[in-house]
Parts: sequence; C-alpha cells; structure tokens
Amino acid sequence: MKILQLNKPLAPISFDALRLQADRIRHASVGDAVYLRGVIEFSNFCRCNCLYCGLRKDNALLQRYRLNEQGVMAAAKEAARAGVDTIVLQSGEDPAYRKRLVARIVSRIKDETGLAVTLSLGVRSTATYQLWRRAGADRYLLKHESADAGLYAALHPGGGLDDRIDAIKRLQDAGFAVGTGFIVGLPGQNDAVLMQDIMLTQALQVEMCGVGPFIPQHNTPLAGEQAGSVGKTLKIIAYLRSHIPRLNIPATTALASLSPEYGQEMALKAGANVIMPNFTPEKHRAKYRIYDGKVRVSMADAYAAIDKTRPLRKSAEERPACNSALHIFPNAPAAYWADVAKGGAQ
Ligand code: SAH
Repeated sequence: MKILQLNKPLAPISFDALRLQADRIRHASVGDAVYLRGVIEFSNFCRCNCLYCGLRKDNALLQRYRLNEQGVMAAAKEAARAGVDTIVLQSGEDPAYRKRLVARIVSRIKDETGLAVTLSLGVRSTATYQLWRRAGADRYLLKHESADAGLYAALHPGGGLDDRIDAIKRLQDAGFAVGTGFIVGLPGQNDAVLMQDIMLTQALQVEMCGVGPFIPQHNTPLAGEQAGSVGKTLKIIAYLRSHIPRLNIPATTALASLSPEYGQEMALKAGANVIMPNFTPEKHRAKYRIYDGKVRVSMADAYAAIDKTRPLRKSAEERPACNSALHIFPNAPAAYWADVAKGGAQ
C-alpha cells in the first residue's frame, strides 16, 4: 500500500515512526482493550442535503426504510448476544421518527440488555437531547465533518459549522459523552484543513473521534470525485492518538470499505481502539448507502482484525489463558473464548 506523505507541519516523521509512536501511546494511555460497539442503522430518511451523503433528501433513487420499535429491539438483542459493549443507534435526520419513541427504545435497550447506549441522530433541539439523556442514553456521536467553515458551508446546504459545534456543546451540557469526527479527502480539502480538524477535536474536549476517508456515492453531486486516501486517513488517526492520548478512536467502516483486508487492522495498529460492527437487519443493510461499496463489518471481521494486532495474541504460545485475556475484549461471548482456548478463533 502506498502511504501518501502529508505536507509539513503534519509530517515531521515518517509514517512508520508515527504509527509506532501512536501504537505505544495507545497502549500506555488507554490500554489494549478494543471496544466493540454494535451499530443499528434504524432509518435512512433524512431532511438534510449534505453533498457527499447518499442519504441526502434529494436522492430520489434511494429506497427509504424505518425500523419499528420491535425491529430495533430485535437487532439490539442480537448485538448484545454477540458480545458488543455498546448499542449505537444511527439514522439520517428523521424527525418523523418521534423523539418519544426514540426515548422509549433507549430505555428499553438499557433495561433489557444492560449495555451502554450511544445515539447518532444528527442535530436536534436541546429539549430533545435532554429527553434522550433522561431516558438513559450515555453517549452521542455528531461529527463536525470539516473544521473549515467555508468547506463546511459548501458541503452542507442550509447548515453552518457554528451550528454543528453548538450542537456538540449542547450535547455535552446535557450530560452526554460526545464523539466528533471528520472526513479525510473531501473535495476542496487540504492538509491545513486536516490540521484544523485535529485542533478542533482537541478544543471540543470530546471522548471520541471517528476519522474516515471520503467515498463517493453515485447519486450525489460528488459522484465523480476521487475517494480519500487510506494512507492519509491512517496517518491522521496516528496524529490524533499522539496528540490526544486518551481519545477513543474507531477503526472506521469507511476504511474497511476502501481496504477490506487491511483497513481496520492497520487502523488498530496506528492508534485506534474501537470497532463498530454492523447489526442493521440484512433486509435493509444495503439501503443505508451513505457511500458506495460500504461493507458490512461483522463480529467475525472485528475479531479477525483484532487478532492480527494485539501483541498478547501474536501466536498460539503467546495466547493467554481464556480468563486472563477477558480484559482485552470485555464482552466477548463465552463461545468465542472457548475457540480461543482451543487456538481456533479467527
Ligand atoms: N445523520 C447523522 C448520521 C450521519 S451518517 C448525523 O448527522 O450525524 C454518519 C457519518 O457518515 C457522517 O457523520 C459522515 O461523516 C459519514 N459520511 C456520510 N457520507 C459519507 C461519504 N460519502 N464518505 C465518507 N463518509 C461519509
């Protein structure tokens, strides 16, 4: 794989040195655990028109769907059985999915699975955020997407960076642990903008930051643009880890989509410590088409990527006994550990 060089000041050291430094900082500051957060994409209706996103309102060719309460609960229970530590509910900005229904689903997931709940439902009113927090939601993902106000405005008709940042602050005030994030390789972006993205992430004092490459979707205005680079995305992940040591950083699905074999493994080796396997019901999965070629990251894919990275599990001899390794994947199901003990799990 070709690793693109960032211009100074983002590239004072080689990618290899940077990645190794990030890996050491990750180990020392957040440890070897890889958190598995199960994502359920429960509606692809969206009132926004973000130029890069396949869910945009003007994409008349996308078949729309909404899971009902029963559908979301079934997917959440499946994810819990598979051993995730958090349920992430994501959708387009879909106000027709009533806020009280979301609140009820959140409290049911908390009661019936005991897991943490993360929401990723876009910009909403403070009262709505407070309602969901009271219902028990622990965290909220709202990426700032791009820290350059001009680029942000060009890509988000009717929306401004200030409103997005304001929503992130309102979420923090409501008591959520908040995750931000940004896209690497957006048309019109340069390395100075990526530097601003890292600095804004630090200034926001968030708990998590997801970084993924831009991937064109064929029914959007950016259909003909080039995808972002895997190498540059990995480099940004390594910079983020080095710069903000305690941040949670996912190995994103967008990375896995551009590089199914190595994307997530490389991210885990460059500072990432979270994987978000997908539990959207199979019937609807392909319709949550934010970009083309989006792969499904399964639990098996997540374990396979982790298996290739964490030093404790380098070889059969070095594999720890079942119980002593539980801290690495806190909620891995017993069946998985039985396989590990036999030396067979992938
Ligand atoms: N409606 C929610 C969830 C959006 S989808 C919200 O507004 O937060 C989740 C993420 O997908 C977005 O935050 C964006 O960063 C990413 N995304 C959308 N289209 C993309 C594309 N074409 N390439 C890469 N990432 C994309």
